[in-house]
Amino acid sequence: MLVMKFGGTSVGSAEAMRRAGRIVQSRLARSPIVIVSAIGQVTDVLVAIGRSAAQRDRIKAFKLILELSAQHRTLLHQLGLENDAGLRTLLLEVEQQLKKLVETIIQAGYTPKPVSDELLSLGELLSAHILSRFLCSFGIDSVMIDSRKVMITDSQFGKAQPQWDAAREQARKTLMPLVNRAVVPVMQGFVGADADGRTTTLGRGGSDYSATLIGAMLNAAAVEIWTDVDGVLTADPTLVPEAKRIRRMTFQEAAELAYFGAKVLHPASLLPAVGKNIPVSVLNSQRPEADGTLISPKLIESDSKECVVKSIAYKEDITVVTVTSTRMLMAYGFLSSIFEIFNRYQTSVDLVTTSEVSVSVTIDQKDRLAEIQRDLSHFSQLEVQSHKAIVCLVGQRMRRTAGMPGLIFSILSDIPIHLISQGASEINISFVVDERDLPVVVRSLHKRFFSGPLDPEIFVVN
Ligand code: ASP
Ligand code: MG
Repeated sequence: MLVMKFGGTSVGSAEAMRRAGRIVQSRLARSPIVIVSAIGQVTDVLVAIGRSAAQRDRIKAFKLILELSAQHRTLLHQLGLENDAGLRTLLLEVEQQLKKLVETIIQAGYTPKPVSDELLSLGELLSAHILSRFLCSFGIDSVMIDSRKVMITDSQFGKAQPQWDAAREQARKTLMPLVNRAVVPVMQGFVGADADGRTTTLGRGGSDYSATLIGAMLNAAAVEIWTDVDGVLTADPTLVPEAKRIRRMTFQEAAELAYFGAKVLHPASLLPAVGKNIPVSVLNSQRPEADGTLISPKLIESDSKECVVKSIAYKEDITVVTVTSTRMLMAYGFLSSIFEIFNRYQTSVDLVTTSEVSVSVTIDQKDRLAEIQRDLSHFSQLEVQSHKAIVCLVGQRMRRTAGMPGLIFSILSDIPIHLISQGASEINISFVVDERDLPVVVRSLHKRFFSGPLDPEIFVVN
C-alpha cells in the first residue's frame, strides 16, 4: 500500500487535478491512499476570513467567502463536474458554514481556537471531495473519507497531536477494507477531530504529517509527497538559482533540513515514517517522470567526500533572546528555570548556546514574547534581538570531516555571526546571522560547497 499526498499547487487548477489523476492512475497497482491539501492558497484565504471577522469587518469577510466559492465553482466547471449534485450541495453548505463561523467570530470579537480549526478545515473538506469525485469521473473507483473519522487527535486546537492507538484503529477499520477492494480513499490532510468529535488541525503545512501518520499506522510500503518542485534542493532556488536536486538523503538529514526551514517538508512530518522505516519521496507533480528526492532510513554508505554538505537551509524572522545572570548561571536549576518559562508560553526554542554568564536561545514565534520577557526579567538581564536568520548546513558526512566550523567561518569572515551550534547528531551546523546578510551567506556557502565536482549518485549534476 502506498500513501500519496498532493499539496495545494498539485491540485490547484483543473490542469493540476488532471495531472494528479494520471499520477494516481499510474499507481493503482500499488493500492494508493490519497491525502490532499486545500487547493492553491485557500488556507491563507480562510485565515484572512477569520482575521477580517475578528476585526468585525463583515463586508471583507463575506467578499472573501464569495471569492472562495467562485474559485471552487470555476474549478468544478473546468473539471466537468458542474452538475455533480453532491459537490454543488457541499459548496453551498460550506458557504453557509463559513458565514456562520464569521458571525460567531464577530460576536466574540476574536477567533477562539476551536472555531479557527473549524474554519481552516473547510479548505481540505472541499479539495478532498472534489478530488475524489474527479478521480471517479476519471474512471478510478474512489471515495472521500472524512479524516475527522480517522485522524483522532488530542484537543490542542491549531496544533493537535494524533492519539496514535485510536487513530490507527480507525485507519485500519475505515481504510483497509476499501484498499482491499481496490477503491482509492481520498482524505483531507491537516484535519482531524478530538475524542468528542470536535474538528482539529495539525498545524500549518500539516498535510505531510497526515500522510506519514497514515502511512505509519497502516505500514505503507512508501509515502509520496507530490509538490511543485523537483524534490529537495541544495539551497532555496530563489536565493541560489543554480541549486541542485538531491537524489537521496537520510531521514536524519531531511529532518534537520525541515526543522531549519527547508520549505518542502513540514518539520514533524518525517517522524512517523522514521519510526516505521518507511521511505518518503518528494516528487514534482508537474514532472512526474523525474525521480525527485528519496528520503530513506538507510545510511548512504557511498557518501563520498564530494558531498560533505548536502544542503543549506535557512529560517528567517528569528528572534534571539539572551539571558544573563552572573549570580545564577552556574547554579543548579538555572537552565531548567529558563526553559520552563519558554515552555509555559508554548514557545519552542530552536538553537541554544551557553557561555559563562549567559544563555542565548532563538525562537521563531513572537506572540508570547512579552510574557516570556516579563517572567525572565525576574531573575536575569535580557537582550532581545530581532530580524535574525538561522542558517543550517546539513550532511551526514560532516560528522567525519574535521574542521568544518573553521572552514565555514573563514568563508564568512566579513559577516557578523551571533550564535553557533553544532547539532548533537553532528550532521548539522547552525548559526545565526542578521537577516540582511542572508542572501550573501547562503550564496557564498553554496558556491564553496557545490561548485566543485559533486557525487552524481547523490546530486543531479548537469
Ligand atoms: N492547507 C494547510 C496549510 O496550508 C495544510 C497543508 O497544506 O499542508 O497549511
Ligand atoms: Mg503545504
